[in-house]
Order: sequence, then C-alpha cells, then structure tokens
Amino acid sequence: MTEQNDDNLSCAHKSHPRTFLGSTFVYPVLSRRSGGISIGINLSPNRICNFNCVYCQVKNQPATMPSDSKIDQQVIEQIENELITLIKMVYKGELFEHAPFDTVPQELRRLCDISFSGDGEPTSSEIFDTLCTRVANIKKQYARDEVKIVLITNSTLLHKPKVQEALAVLDLNNGEIWAKLDAGTEKYYATVNRSGVAFEKILDNILRAAQKRPIKIQTLFMNIMGSAPDQQEIAAYIDRLNFLTDNGAHIKAVQMHTVARQPAESFISPLTNAQLEAIAQQVQSQTKINIETFFGSSN
Ligand code: SF4
Repeated sequence: MTEQNDDNLSCAHKSHPRTFLGSTFVYPVLSRRSGGISIGINLSPNRICNFNCVYCQVKNQPATMPSDSKIDQQVIEQIENELITLIKMVYKGELFEHAPFDTVPQELRRLCDISFSGDGEPTSSEIFDTLCTRVANIKKQYARDEVKIVLITNSTLLHKPKVQEALAVLDLNNGEIWAKLDAGTEKYYATVNRSGVAFEKILDNILRAAQKRPIKIQTLFMNIMGSAPDQQEIAAYIDRLNFLTDNGAHIKAVQMHTVARQPAESFISPLTNAQLEAIAQQVQSQTKINIETFFGSSN
C-alpha cells in the first residue's frame, strides 16, 4: 500500500460522522475493530448519556438533534428505513462511490456488523428493546448470516429486565456486547467516567452479562493532565479482569485504545503507541484474556 493510500485509509478510519446522505440515526463507519464496514445506529443524536467521560469524543462535535428532542416509538420506522437503505448500499457497492469510503480497499468492502453505538448510551433509549427485535428481523432479511449485531455499552443498565430481554434477542441473532471498562479503582472510575452509577454496579453487570454469553471489553487509557494511569491503577484493573474471569465471565478479548479525536476536556491527551503497548503487554501477561490494541483509532 502506498503512503497516499495509507493516508486515505486513515482518513476513512477516522471519519465518524453520525449521519450519511441525509440520515438522522444510521451511519456507516470503516471500523478497525470490525475489520470492515460497520453500520452504526445512533439512538442518542440528542447527546443524552448517563456517563460524562473526560475523554468523550462526541461532546465537541455538533449534535445531530437538539438535546430536548424525543427519541420515541415514532422514529422506529425511520431507523428501519435508513438501515435497510444503507445495507443495500453496502451490498450493491454504492457506498464506495462516496467519500471517504471510495478509498476503502477491496478486502475491507464488506459489511461486518450493525452496531448500537453513537453519541450516548444505547440501552438508555426507550426504544432499544423494540429496535433490537426489528434490527434482528432486518438483518435476517437483508444481510448475510455472518453480520453481527454489536451493542457498545457502558454497562450501567444491563441489569434492567427490558435490556435483558433485548440481549436475549441479540444472543439469538449473532449479537455481541462490547462493554466499557476504563478503570480498576472506584477513584479512577469516578475521575474518568464521572457517572452517578456505582463502579461495583458496572462490574456486577459486566460479570452477569459475560456469564451468559461471551463479551468483549473496551478500555480507553489516556493521559490525565499529562499522566498515564499509574502502576497501582493498572494492577487494580488487572485484578478486576481476573476477578471477572475467575467468576465465570467469558471475555473474548479486551480492545485497548487511546484518545483519537478531540476529547471533551482539554487536560486529556492520548498515550503514545509505546505507552499503550506496554500496558497491553502487562495486562496480557497477567490475565488469560487476549488483548487487542488499537493505535490512533477510536473505532
Ligand atoms: S459513555 Fe460514550 S457517549 Fe457517554 S460520555 Fe462516555 S464516551 Fe461519551
């Protein structure tokens, strides 16, 4: 691959607008983690989230909808139509006529997943459970069997009965949970994720979800006021992972990354590749979990 092609591909990987050709909820992404095209469903175009992460990379982008917009049952049909249109565009190759997807190499021009992600916590949406069923039906009708349905979540609400029902639908339809875990200690969790939900609740939700089906963990490490997480924090993080697996959690992988786009707070900066790699190697050597590192990419 030429340097110019590398630049173009990097541009496609870093391009994450939440709308595409006039859509409101559904958008395509070239995803390193998926290994191809991921179609995102943004259930929070109004930027409602029950976390307030210091590194949040959506807070500095213009919102697709005002914060008081209601995302209710009335938009389900619109989401379905946007999703079907985009799936067809990928399979017909029409997506790759549009920048930046026109630079995507042939081997990555495949639909890997449909993901509930976007600008907030998908499970907090009142239409999340209904939409899981609708998306599963659309996937059966329009997409290939191998296409996953990925839930990218901060795990705060995984214990809710309606969310559990939705997860059961995903389990039957090649679903996968990617759960955020950015800390080992309550203190660091409070500093990084700034949520009213107790850290132990997050860990309990991850444990229960991963006891029922294999999941992936997503971890973002960064510099806070110029300092990377210290050894005590990394040791506590490793202890948390080992606690999960020792208690029956099936963790397929940890996806470890750093800040790739402008963070919410000016005192946040990315780790160097060497810093991230060093943490990844330490975690890899002290757990039984496969650690995947993603440099300079948030997707
Ligand atoms: S959970 Fe995601 S959307 Fe919510 S504040 Fe954190 S990074 Fe932003």
